[in-house]
Amino acid sequence: MQPILQAQNLRFCYDSGAPALDGVSLDVHAGERIAVLGPNGAGKSTFFLCLNGVLTPESGQIVLQGKPVDKKMRKTLCERVGIVFQNADDQIIASTVAAEVSFGPMNLRLPRQEVARRVDHALDYMDLQAFRARPPHDLSGGEKKRVSIADILAMESEIILLDEPAASLDPVGEERLERVLARLSDEGRTLLISTHDMDFAFRWATRAVVFSAGRILADGTPQTVLADQAVLRQAHLRRPMLLEVWDALRARELVPQDAPCPRTPEELTRLLDHQQD
Ligand code: ADP
Repeated sequence: MQPILQAQNLRFCYDSGAPALDGVSLDVHAGERIAVLGPNGAGKSTFFLCLNGVLTPESGQIVLQGKPVDKKMRKTLCERVGIVFQNADDQIIASTVAAEVSFGPMNLRLPRQEVARRVDHALDYMDLQAFRARPPHDLSGGEKKRVSIADILAMESEIILLDEPAASLDPVGEERLERVLARLSDEGRTLLISTHDMDFAFRWATRAVVFSAGRILADGTPQTVLADQAVLRQAHLRRPMLLEVWDALRARELVPQDAPCPRTPEELTRLLDHQQD
């Protein structure tokens, strides 16, 4: 299957000197749920900004459905690959929530009715109808985050990049976000999320990509990548809690030695219950 989006040998330097991206290549396939991991400063945000065309790499290229993205295709790239910024204030510009969410579809010069349909759908999706006339800048951090996700939903991008989306959320906000992510994935969107939450990455992602010093250090299933002590050490990442528990159970021969670690506590409970039958 042809990748939906490819990064090929991207290199990017800010004025400050050392390369923020130093030869990054990644093939993204439709429907993947990719957790992008790594310490602060590893290049994750810069990578996302290059992937949707906000930044242009100094060398290397982005390929969208087999077509290398040139200047003329930049607008298409922005439309097809939506980005939810880490800081909602960097993204939100309009004076009401409804105006904010309509901004993207209006820029696409869609008919007024279609803009209204998309805004309604995005506001319903993010449970924001009650906020539609409110100024976004008066909202709480979690509410602003919902508005910034609604912005991207209204663009109907097939690929969505979310840069540390849970950073400003309380536990209820995190649960809501995870429900939205599950729904988006069920609907067939391709999702890349940068996160420091290793437990979330382990249970949610189909693929884990680890960045370190502007390069990709590891790329594979969460079960493989997040169990690799050398990778975790180099990228200063913590092991997911479930892998710790799994190792303890395995060391005591309480679970089959060759079985893969379950992805969620519920799966683990089912497996343990099944063993007792
Ligand atoms: P991450 O998202 O993994 O924390 P970033 O992509 O934000 O990493 O940063 C990668 C490198 O680029 C870091 O060294 C950071 O200091 C630098 N950098 C990021 N944004 C800017 C900027 N606007 N100007 C100058 N340097 C930047």
